[in-house]
Order: sequence, then C-alpha cells, then structure tokens
Amino acid sequence: MGNLHNWAGNIAFSTEVLSRPASIPELQEIVSRSRQVRALGSGHSFNRIADTAGALISVADLPRDITIDTASATAEVPAGASYAQVSQALEARGWALPNLASLPHISVAGACCTGTHGSGGQLACLASHAVGVEFVRADGGLVRVDRSDPAFPGSVLTLGALGIMTRLRLAVVPSFTIKQTVWVDLPLASAAEHFDAIMAAAYSVSMFRDWTRPGLMNALWLKSLPDDPAADAGAWGARPATTALHPVPGQDPAPATPQLGSVGPWHLRLPHFSPEFAPSVGNEQQSEYFVPREHGPAALLALAGLDLARSLYVCEVRTVAADELWLSPCRERPTAAFHFTWINDDEAVAAGIAAVETALGHLDVRPHWAKVFRIPPERLRTHYPDLPGFRALAERHDPDRKFGNPFLARYVYASGGPT
Ligand SMILES: Cc1cc2nc3c(=O)[nH]c(=O)nc-3n(C[C@H](O)[C@H](O)[C@H](O)COP(=O)(O)OP(=O)(O)OC[C@H]3O[C@@H](n4cnc5c(N)ncnc54)[C@H](O)[C@@H]3O)c2cc1C
Repeated sequence: MGNLHNWAGNIAFSTEVLSRPASIPELQEIVSRSRQVRALGSGHSFNRIADTAGALISVADLPRDITIDTASATAEVPAGASYAQVSQALEARGWALPNLASLPHISVAGACCTGTHGSGGQLACLASHAVGVEFVRADGGLVRVDRSDPAFPGSVLTLGALGIMTRLRLAVVPSFTIKQTVWVDLPLASAAEHFDAIMAAAYSVSMFRDWTRPGLMNALWLKSLPDDPAADAGAWGARPATTALHPVPGQDPAPATPQLGSVGPWHLRLPHFSPEFAPSVGNEQQSEYFVPREHGPAALLALAGLDLARSLYVCEVRTVAADELWLSPCRERPTAAFHFTWINDDEAVAAGIAAVETALGHLDVRPHWAKVFRIPPERLRTHYPDLPGFRALAERHDPDRKFGNPFLARYVYASGGPT
C-alpha cells in the first residue's frame, strides 16, 4: 500500500507514483507510454474513484492561465486549478460562476468529473457550467470537445474515464453579491411541511441537522441575492442566529464564510468554507444521497427517526436543478440532496450508510459518485440509461481501459446495462 492518501486520509492509494507534468507534451508523453494511469485532482473524494495501481497524474503544474471571452461569456480555465483560484481570477475581472460547492479548495476537473454541486433549486451541478473540455486520451492525443458534439453530455462528468483533462471552458455570469443569514432551531416537522418554500427562500439554501436535538434542524443557511425579498424563517419556527456558526455544530466558526447578514462577493459567500482555512472537520468521511425533489419531505421524515447522533458530525440538505449529463445523479430530475459528514470510523460509517440507504431505499435514491456508499452496481446502473453510450465513448478514447480502475469496473464497465 502506498503513502499517497486522499484529503481525509481514509483512502491510501494503491500506488506510490504521482507524476506532475509541467507541459501538455510532457503529459501526452506520460499517458501514451503508461499502461495504467489516472488523474488525481485535489484528492477530496472519499472512496476509491481516483485510485489506480499504475500512476496518478496531477495536472496542477500545467500552465495556469485563465482567459475570459466576454463576447461568449465563457472562461477557459486550467483543469487542475482550484475553484478558489478560478473564482478570484473571475471576480477580479467582473465575472462569476453561478454556483460553487461548500468548499472552494477542490479542483475544477475533479469536481466536474464527480457531479459535485452546491445548493439552489435553479442551480445545476458544477459540471453543467462547462461548455467545452480539453483532455489527453489514452493514445496521448489531445482532444477538444464542445457543446456542438452529441457526446458532450458524457464528456465532462466522466468519473475520469475518458482521459486526463487539461482545460475546461465554463459559462460565466456577471459578478454578483450574496447576503448570508443563518437561522437556528427550525422544527423538523416545519422543515418537512414547508420544504419547497424553505428551499426557495433564497438563491442557495442549506438545512443542517446533527440528530442530537430531537425534532429540530440545527440550522438553516440562506444565501440571498441583493434583490431577494428578506426571508422570515421565523414564520417556520426558526430563530435568527446571534453568533457566526460553523456548519458542523460545536466547531470554531472561523473557517466559515461570513454570516449575520453579511453581504460579500459571490465566491466568498456561496461556499460555506473560506479558502484560507481547512474546510469541514478533516478527520471525517462523507456520503450523499439524491432523491427526486418531490420526495424531499418524505426523505427528511424517513431519516428523522434514525439513530445517527453518535456516528455523525452533521447532515446537510440541499436542492439541485436537473441537468442532461449522462452520468449525473441529478440527470433529468430536480433533486433533493442529503449529505452526511460522518466521524472517521469505518464501522460507524458502514452502520450509518446501511441505515440511511435502507431509509431512503423506496425513494429512487442515487449516491454521490465521490463519497462513501454501498448501493449495489446493478441497482445503481438502473438510474443511468445512457451508460451504454458512455461506455462506447470511453471505448473510443480508451480502448484498453488505461484510465480504468476497480471503481469504474464495478459501476461503469461491469456487464449489464440499465434494465
Ligand atoms: C470537505 C469537503 C466538502 C465537500 N463538499 C462538497 C459539496 O459541497 N458538494 C459536492 O457535490 N461534493 C462535495 N465534496 C466532494 C468533492 O467535491 C468531490 O470529491 C470532488 O470530486 C473533489 O474534487 P477533487 O479535485 O478533489 O477530485 P479528486 O478526488 O482528486 O478526483 C475525483 C475524480 O475526478 C478525476 N479527476 C480529477 N482530476 C481530473 C482530470 N484533470 N482529468 C480527468 N479526471 C480527473 C479523478 O480521477 C477521480 O475519478 C466535498 C468534499 C470534501 C472533502
């Protein structure tokens, strides 16, 4: 077992080799001469999705220029750049991305490859911002694909299966500001009854619960546009927070983005965590489950009675807009997302996952590709009718499965398509 670990430390990669090419020709040369390779972004995934027995490749040392085309409102960004770096460069020139994940530390390619998302009923996952992608395929060739290609919906959220991404072109919007307000002690029954209204109360909304307080959601985070009417969560039984909070109850709030009605640029309010601090807890594992949005209240209630307090730091409930991406957990359905930050104990995580998957099993549930889950491949595959098309695309760019690994073998390549 190698010394290379993911961010959380719960995964030791099966290789000691991490190559960091400084140019695209050098990357092409490494890929073409290798038998097994896989890209590693910032290593924030919690399962073996990024693993390989061959060499890991980081594209973080490739040229870092970010170019903006104002006419088409798009920006071309390095695949290995973090969202913090990209956001800062966009903001400096008056541009923005429509949404971000809870942390800006992750790489653009890594986030897009796994369907990473933020919250917002009108806001789809981060891969849906992409309008073009450049990658090095198995034979070392440099490929560029854009939205005019019928295979584009399978070319960004790829789980790393098509090749090593070098650059992405993202749709951008004019810079905007966000006001962040946190409410506490939202009654669970009220959260379920008014689910749609609460999740629509701001541009981006998150509810948090840690199961230590029966019948209560710990917190409701509202990220509002300047022109949004001020939401009164008191009407749903919540109270305004009087101090800044960390998303995980009891943690020092310093790493969290400013709250208490503080207005600031989009990239310093949409994530929960500020770029200059380590996000979340660190010694943790994560899972996330996606159900059709209309099942959000039922999911909330189905989870309510579980005994999770001892295995969980916090659960976050978000909404995500539907998209058309072949492997997206939000594919063709507006989504309610239930995220779990577990304590870093394999047994506790396994028990928690088993309980959650059982509780949500009747709600057409899909797992986050980059987090810990147990849903069997044959069930998971029924959610992805475009898997055969995706396999054909992967076959075209990587006929010998140079970018393959056991994770892809299990969930993507294993025989048997969707029924
Ligand atoms: C504290 C914390 C908070 C999180 N919050 C959220 C959240 O709010 N929303 C959410 O949806 N997820 C969240 N996640 C999960 C995270 O967004 C995903 O794990 C994401 O994939 C991380 O990006 P990365 O760059 O670390 O990818 P990695 O883990 O390094 O890689 C993920 C996958 O992408 C592939 N990949 C990476 N770079 C490339 C490339 N250049 N070319 C081709 N393939 C590539 C890898 O091979 C691998 O398959 C969180 C994770 C952590 C640790």
